[in-house]
Amino acid sequence: MPFYDLKCKCGEVFNAMASVSDRENRRIRCPKCGSNDLEAVFTNVNIIRSGKSAGTECPNLGQCGGSCPHLQ
Ligand SMILES: [Zn+2]
Repeated sequence: MPFYDLKCKCGEVFNAMASVSDRENRRIRCPKCGSNDLEAVFTNVNIIRSGKSAGTECPNLGQCGGSCPHLQ
């Protein structure tokens, strides 16, 4: 089963192991408030956005402020 980093509308961010169907059927719940209104947080920096050159694209998707060594 894959791990998901999930963010709840209450601001809680947590990691949950769940099947795709569990996620699609909103069976995952926030451990803090119990809500199932969650959005996935992608922390994997290896995601390459389509239509852009992987050579010049910051792997941190700009979160580094443009100063990451991958842009050098
Ligand atoms: Zn919550």
